Amino acid sequence: MAAGERYDLIIVGGGPGGYVAAVRAAQLGLKAVCIEKENRLGGVCLNVGCIPSKALLDSSEYYRLAKERFAEHGVHARGLGLDLSKMMARKETVVKDLTDNVRKLLEGNKVDIVHGRARLVAPDTVEVSRESNESSPRDDRRTVLTADAVLLATGSEPVSLPNLPFDGNRVVSSTGALAFESVPGHLGIVGGGYIGLELGSVWLRLGARVTVVEMLPKLASTLDDQVGRALQRALAKQGFDFRLRTRVTGADIKDDAAVLTLEQDGREEALNCERVLVAVGRRALTRGLGLEELGIGLDSRSGQVLVDSQYRTSVPNVYAIGDLIAGPMLAHKASAEGIAAVEHIAGLPGEVNYEAIPSVIYTSPEVAGVGLTEEQVKERNIPYCVGTYPFSGAGRARCMGETEGFAKIIAHARTDRILGVHVIGSRASDMIAECVLAIELDASSEDIARTVHAHPTFSEALHEAAMNVRSCSIYGQKLRMT
Ligand code: FAD
Ligand code: NAD
Repeated sequence: MAAGERYDLIIVGGGPGGYVAAVRAAQLGLKAVCIEKENRLGGVCLNVGCIPSKALLDSSEYYRLAKERFAEHGVHARGLGLDLSKMMARKETVVKDLTDNVRKLLEGNKVDIVHGRARLVAPDTVEVSRESNESSPRDDRRTVLTADAVLLATGSEPVSLPNLPFDGNRVVSSTGALAFESVPGHLGIVGGGYIGLELGSVWLRLGARVTVVEMLPKLASTLDDQVGRALQRALAKQGFDFRLRTRVTGADIKDDAAVLTLEQDGREEALNCERVLVAVGRRALTRGLGLEELGIGLDSRSGQVLVDSQYRTSVPNVYAIGDLIAGPMLAHKASAEGIAAVEHIAGLPGEVNYEAIPSVIYTSPEVAGVGLTEEQVKERNIPYCVGTYPFSGAGRARCMGETEGFAKIIAHARTDRILGVHVIGSRASDMIAECVLAIELDASSEDIARTVHAHPTFSEALHEAAMNVRSCSIYGQKLRMT
């Protein structure tokens, strides 16, 4: 683009919110530029989030299956070994391929890409600075870009604990725990949420002892209770040591170890770890963006950017999406908002259905859910029926030896409209798509019950759970309530 020419849209941040928004903008004929401070596009999701964590979860699961489960299928893997550096190199290749693809995608759509740190200096003006570094000390350039609209998609960063600051070695965030060079003897994890359970699974499968310290009485507290309890039991059986209702009150970080002081119900205990992963949540990345100077409203508690239903901030023509604003910090939510925000900017009616945003924890068994939990339905005094069905009753699950888990459908007692679906078990991450569509289309449990599901598949558990809402499961199996 010629110097001084004005863009239709400046997008700050090249993550799943920003790059998807950029492609949609190009499709709608907007001249767009995407500014990214890192050298690689793709944001947290592709570089240090969803993708590298799932690559390691998949690799470590193969290792666990080969070690623990192949024999029951009559497959003997003798001389089984772990090459961690190869596993890490593969993860890097997956990340590089995908981030390279994002660049090609933007270039193919004629979206300009500018690398550097962006700061809003006026509602229509963004200054981009590229810091000098040792390899190019003279590379200290500033560029000023202007546009009719600015979309902020700068994402989030890990929260640290005051008594346990990240040092990139003994005490790490998820980014560090995605790149350990050796399997820690004992990994202490503070926070039993998404990251704690997923990355804890990776290192447990590869041979670490894993202790999770969680301040609440349950893990991943947003899960349906019945599912959460089943997940806790399954992971404890695999070897996770859970310390619930427990806080870290002190830490002694040494060269070769970290000693945490844990407190539960007034009792103190020392926990010796080789490394500590702090995974107590993430916060919106607003620092240095110039938001306060422009008077862009932030939520006083969460620090997230406040937006209206069209993703407009308090300053005209400045929009925000993704982890930077309220709602679940999930890649698909950021992308959906990116599309909807750009459609609004282009004068079209964009919309995200927040009742139909799935969430998945990629442990083994996987956990996936959409809509309301049973606890939320009760709190809202909605009359409801529940249908459940265990995976042990599905033929395919038996063939694969993956019988742990169940599907649970919650429907309105009078209208039968599906209010929530929660699945724990193998392939739950893929099975949930059908349930998201059901909620999106206001379907009833009878709609799923009357839908023919392929046999033998895991999704038959969902089918039977739907029939069980009206107590007419063909195979009649009910989940024992725990
Ligand atoms: P980001 O992906 O954070 O992208 C923001 C981009 O903006 C970054 O590239 C950043 O460098 C750039 N940026 C920031 N400030 C500036 C600036 N001033 N100038 C220029 N550029 C800037 N979600 C899922 O849905 N599924 C998962 O399986 C999953 N796994 C995860 C695993 C881990 C370990 C972590 C940490 C997160 C995971 N998430 C997952 C969450 C997911 O990564 C985020 O919800 C998602 O990346 C948010 O997208 P975003 O576009 O809002 O922000
Ligand atoms: P989280 O909110 O999922 O879990 C944080 C946990 O830490 C909570 O259970 C909380 O009670 C606990 N906690 C907070 N302070 C504590 C303290 N002082 N001591 C002990 N426990 C404490 O956050 P996360 O695991 O850091 O992940 C951040 C976000 O990234 C997630 O909320 C999610 O949106 C996203 N993510 C998604 C996926 C996925 O979609 N599969 C995977 C990883 C991360």
